[in-house]
Amino acid sequence: MRFRNVTTHFEELKLKATRSGRCAGCQKRTSRVLKVSQTLNPFNKNAKGLPKSRFEIMEELRIRLAERRTQPLLCTGCEDAARPPPPWKRP
Ligand SMILES: [Zn+2]
Repeated sequence: MRFRNVTTHFEELKLKATRSGRCAGCQKRTSRVLKVSQTLNPFNKNAKGLPKSRFEIMEELRIRLAERRTQPLLCTGCEDAARPPPPWKRP
């Protein structure tokens, strides 16, 4: 018997926010889109071990976006520079 790949489609809940202003690194004007998402599925459980409801997920996404908003705004260039290089690029 072979396992077939069953594609089950779960709904993805997304939230997006745009930020614009001066980059904290190079002071250039930048605008970034912050995106957060989570899938609504029976395996995505909350602290009580119950599947998360649409409302719970949206609430979590809102919190996550708010957290991201408190971090300094960086342009893509500065963000890449701040991130440690991937293993294959390390000496
Ligand atoms: Zn910058």
